[in-house]
Amino acid sequence: MLIAMNDYFRRELQRRQLKLTPPRRLVFEALQNGGPLTMSELIRRTQPAVDRASVYRTVARFEQIEILHHLIVGGRKVIELTERFTGHHHHLSCVRCGQLQDVHDEPLEAALQRLADTHGFDAHNHVIEVSGVCRACATQAAA
Ligand SMILES: [Zn+2]
Ligand SMILES: [Zn+2]
Ligand SMILES: [Zn+2]
Repeated sequence: MLIAMNDYFRRELQRRQLKLTPPRRLVFEALQNGGPLTMSELIRRTQPAVDRASVYRTVARFEQIEILHHLIVGGRKVIELTERFTGHHHHLSCVRCGQLQDVHDEPLEAALQRLADTHGFDAHNHVIEVSGVCRACATQAAA
């Protein structure tokens, strides 16, 4: 799965005649391993190998070629790989620790499709975010 994702990333750069430079590789890997990250988290995770300006530049370029996108989750602007890499999913957002968890759920998607169909609606997109307290924070509070 991870190898396939990397292959796709490399092919995508090649297709655009972009070199796989260390900043590009490290920014991609940080997002691949870390899920949605704020810009400052991304900068922290790629330091000291990549300087701040290179992170901004790489993010802008990757956004242009749809390798990543910006979204608002838990009231914060975060950066995440596009669904071409992650697959369609939604987020659980913890109000205590700020952790964002990716969730894929087929029955949910089917229910939304049925909802649209019922209303004769040609649905293109939907945004769902569940906020609350994650398992780790709930366990900590109970202890
Ligand atoms: Zn939490
Ligand atoms: Zn996500
Ligand atoms: Zn969905």
